[in-house]
Amino acid sequence: MKIVTILGARPQFIKAGTVSRKLLEHAEIEEIIIHTGQHYDANMSDVFFDEMKIPKPHYFLGIGGKSHGAMTGQMIEKIEEVILKEQPDWIMVYGDTNSTLAGALVASKLHIKLAHIEAGLRSFNMQMPEEINRILTDRISNILFCPTDSAIQNLENEGYNKFNCKIIKSGDVMQDGALFYSELAVKPNIDLNDKFILSTIHRAENTDDIHKLSAIIAALNEIHKSCQIVLPIHPRTRNIIAENNIQIDFKTIEPVGYLEMVWLIKNSKLIMTDSGGLQKEAFFFEKPCITLREQTEWVELIDHQFNILVGSDKQKILDTYNGATFNNDFSINLYGGGKACDNIINELLSYE
Ligand code: UDP
Repeated sequence: MKIVTILGARPQFIKAGTVSRKLLEHAEIEEIIIHTGQHYDANMSDVFFDEMKIPKPHYFLGIGGKSHGAMTGQMIEKIEEVILKEQPDWIMVYGDTNSTLAGALVASKLHIKLAHIEAGLRSFNMQMPEEINRILTDRISNILFCPTDSAIQNLENEGYNKFNCKIIKSGDVMQDGALFYSELAVKPNIDLNDKFILSTIHRAENTDDIHKLSAIIAALNEIHKSCQIVLPIHPRTRNIIAENNIQIDFKTIEPVGYLEMVWLIKNSKLIMTDSGGLQKEAFFFEKPCITLREQTEWVELIDHQFNILVGSDKQKILDTYNGATFNNDFSINLYGGGKACDNIINELLSYE
């Protein structure tokens, strides 16, 4: 069986790296990796391949730093060339980026079977580019690997039971990764207090609205007076903060590799983020999480009070930080318990 995996952005390296490691255990499967180049800085891309020992991509398309249309269009053109040459049995895509959508469209046009990992997630915010990418990708996938019960429910609500596709509750590959890499965590070379809050901000809904971004930073400035904030800064956020002279009173650090990130999560007292993946990692490593967004796809974390949604209002962020209580019994199995990769591979091998 030949699988072409398409990836291009940081969270996809982390997810696909975990699956690739498992695929290598199956001699009957050949995996070809296409890296679209959507994320290309060394600390947003190479570091993950090196540290996590992800097989080097067979194809690097070098398509990054462009508008949505140019990026997605050029990816479709280049991915199609590779697929015509490689003739795989499956194309496998992850999550909700432009690379995901481009790979999905090529698969459907060339009649190659498509597997979507992290299918069925919805924020119900159609302004988010990620929401459009995931809805369109789901609709043309042959197998939809859902990480959670709510993802399955979303698809049922949209009538997917009547469509010609297979819906599988696989569990979440990020939990498989978190369990594997936990032991390999590395302390980053930065000054840290005993207690610190780990924060990341990069979602377009926050960075593209200067008022929202300023309010979030103002809240973090306030919190930093009593507890150190550690913020590995996404290049997009760094540029927007610099261009708009937003005052930031704590020290940001360059994006870190995954092993450093796992160390920071494990040793933090709280996570404050707009990242999708980091919300789950907070749960995997048993940390409370305040999410700087209006919606989340990971609704089970909210329902079970591991995570609180606060959006970007400064006072709401501060009130939640000062007053909220969180569930600290993390024994519930929400994401499959680390068996997602095996479930996915077994399903692909037995697909008829
Ligand atoms: N991450 C990392 N280094 C960083 C920031 C994040 O390794 O400096 C990891 C994080 O632990 C998670 C993934 O990147 O596994 C999340 O990616 P991101 O927040 O960029 O995307 P999202 O999950 O929001 O799609």
